[in-house]
Amino acid sequence: MEKQSSSATNGKPVNRHLILASHSNLKFKETLSINWGAKTAMERGPVVASLTNPRARNAIGAHSGSYTVYRALSIASGKFPPQHRPDLENTQSPVQIGPYSQWMDPTKIVSLDPWGLDPQIGFKPLFEQGYDIRPSIAVTQAHLQIPEVAEAIAKGRLKKDGKIVLDTGDIKVTKVAIEPVWYLPGMAARLGVDEGELRRILFQETGGMYPEFITRQDLKVWLPPIGSTTVYIFGDPKDLANPKVELTCRVHDECNGSDVFGSDICTCRPYLMYGIEDAARTAQRGGVGLIAYYRKEGRALGEVTKFLVYNARKRQKGGDSAATYFHRTECVAGTEDARFQEFMPDCLHFFGITKIHNLHSMSNMKYDAIVKSGIEVVNRISIPDELIPKDAQVEMEAKKAAGYFSKDGAKQGSALESVKGRKIDE
Ligand SMILES: [Zn+2]
Repeated sequence: MEKQSSSATNGKPVNRHLILASHSNLKFKETLSINWGAKTAMERGPVVASLTNPRARNAIGAHSGSYTVYRALSIASGKFPPQHRPDLENTQSPVQIGPYSQWMDPTKIVSLDPWGLDPQIGFKPLFEQGYDIRPSIAVTQAHLQIPEVAEAIAKGRLKKDGKIVLDTGDIKVTKVAIEPVWYLPGMAARLGVDEGELRRILFQETGGMYPEFITRQDLKVWLPPIGSTTVYIFGDPKDLANPKVELTCRVHDECNGSDVFGSDICTCRPYLMYGIEDAARTAQRGGVGLIAYYRKEGRALGEVTKFLVYNARKRQKGGDSAATYFHRTECVAGTEDARFQEFMPDCLHFFGITKIHNLHSMSNMKYDAIVKSGIEVVNRISIPDELIPKDAQVEMEAKKAAGYFSKDGAKQGSALESVKGRKIDE
């Protein structure tokens, strides 16, 4: 029986019939198969995760990552028409990206959908048949206005050239938003675990949010409710795939406190800004720059855990010290780091990258993941000492002591213990 409730929907009729996709016999003739790693968009088949026609869905989860929840609130309050289908006219990328050979290798890219860029073009015949296929990647252009860049220009480190750095001091960029689309067999293989085991743990650890992990083993693709990745490109995006063109690249994990608010306990914003400056400079000398920004706050442990760790570090006996930096994180969170850099290189492969000439990252986990994925790295660039905030010395020395890359080596023993941060209330 169907019942309409006018209070929740402002009188607009809504479909109250729930389809629980929890039976393996729920396969319909309009459900398209996904052949991950196939050579063309149409051979690969689209990821259909829109909710306007549940019979056509061939993935677990929904588009927009964590924003699915806000969309639900908006629909519940009657302010959002659930059957809305996007008008994609003129939304396509202003530049050509791919297809690259990595798109056709089922092992190179497993955590995003390269054919999710401009599906209205790649899957045109299916749009004509009425399929509601949503983009999971979008590309646009912008100008960046950044105080540190203005300072770099004022100090003569960066010059205005009218092309990359405009006369106004703005930097011209192409920016790319990439939603996570996880191909579960590929994810399991890369982690070295059994797919069934991965599905069972994903089901359990999300509090049973997605029963299809267990009941629909035929659905191989999941759109997880997590943040997207944003990529900023300096220079011609086509050059990213040309190993002969110098590429300067920073792979940056989100740190809202530093990146946005300038909090001084870490080096995240200074390193990010230095990466942007160097990426722009590389583009000016005929190369190309790329900054990839991953929403993995607090080493993917989240900001609440991160702030608890800050307090625990500052209150511990002997004060905040480089020697005990990782230990306090592990005490609170249960692990030092939950980022799993294994999937980070996927977005580099999306752009056809095979060689990075200058990698801005001191993290061995990131370096190892990139090299293991088949991308050559020529130089590794650490943050210049003068850009490290005083209170961030604890983080910096702890990371160097733990084996992070640095030109000048790491402090050990009492020298490491003597690197201290501020106390609570200081
Ligand atoms: Zn930080």
